[in-house]
Amino acid sequence: MQQLKDNFNRKFEYLRLSITDECNFKCNYCLPDGYQRSHDNQFLSHQEIKHLVAAFAELGTKKVRITGGEPSLRKDFPDIIKSVSEVEGIVKVATTTNGFRLQKEAQHWFDAGLGAINVSVDSLDPKTFHLITGKNIFQKVMDGVSACIEAGYQQVKINSVLLRGQNDKDLDLYIDWIKTQPIQLRFIELMQTGDNAEFFKQHHLSGLWIKEKLLRQGWVQKTALSHDGPAQIFSHEDYQGEVGLIMPYSKDFCKGCNRLRVSSVGKLHLCLFGEKGINLRDLLTDSSQKEALKRRIISALDDKKESHYLQLGNTGITPHLASIGG
Ligand code: SAM
Ligand code: SF4
Repeated sequence: MQQLKDNFNRKFEYLRLSITDECNFKCNYCLPDGYQRSHDNQFLSHQEIKHLVAAFAELGTKKVRITGGEPSLRKDFPDIIKSVSEVEGIVKVATTTNGFRLQKEAQHWFDAGLGAINVSVDSLDPKTFHLITGKNIFQKVMDGVSACIEAGYQQVKINSVLLRGQNDKDLDLYIDWIKTQPIQLRFIELMQTGDNAEFFKQHHLSGLWIKEKLLRQGWVQKTALSHDGPAQIFSHEDYQGEVGLIMPYSKDFCKGCNRLRVSSVGKLHLCLFGEKGINLRDLLTDSSQKEALKRRIISALDDKKESHYLQLGNTGITPHLASIGG
């Protein structure tokens, strides 16, 4: 079995696959004016997705996260989950969702083969949740999270983007919540993108203060496993849940990079903040193109840079993370 590696000896066993860039939320850090279609391309078809994942699996990909935009807006989302989970070599299928459809669909997706789910819950205060996401449906999303736990997912993670002056006051609520819940909270530092420079200046908050607070309260940093990627994970013997910190501006963040991305229109992105996407779509029409597709992916990796250079204000071509799949 081949294994995708780059020139810095990083192994890529994890693919983040966007299946749509459309979204029904208006998160203030991502799509504050709501989704505006910026291209005429159709999103990858179910069949194209199958060809794509089959090639990645032969290059050592073991885990696929289906993302967007909001992936659950696609009517064929359960079919996509099923097909991806059936590809030989793929051992884990995950998704990241805003939770809008979760309450109704958590069990259905689980039955289709989804093993792990990340739900974005940017505040535990319903009013702040509404302010950040533009949707007044906090309780519905939380009921969706409970539905995931009941359905028996291997992993339920909650993503929360740290926002100075908005959800920073919720930290204690979050920590209390996971005392009795087997949930991994993931606090993500706000990243600057092409569209949110002003917002970033006002609301970016380093995750370091959380790290210091956790350590003071007896949380212990776990040794990073290769599949953790760049997150720093903390556990505490009195808590069922864990805390993950994703601090893209911290030194050495990119050393743990273990992922590649494919956008909803079939471009390979070597980094969330890379300059260009490499078109794969012309090689997704039928399975006889698989070897050529694999060769293109392997040669593209030669250009993967050591770091995202975000700390230098680089945002590449990424206007917002919904555009290539966060
Ligand atoms: N719509 C789904 C959701 O919100 O969970 C999936 C796509 S969203 C782009 C994936 C993740 O990226 C979410 O957890 C979201 O909060 C995060 N995200 C979006 N923009 C971000 C930014 N500028 N900085 C950090 N995280 C961001
Ligand atoms: Fe939509 Fe997710 Fe972006 Fe929020 S973070 S606007 S839910 S894509």
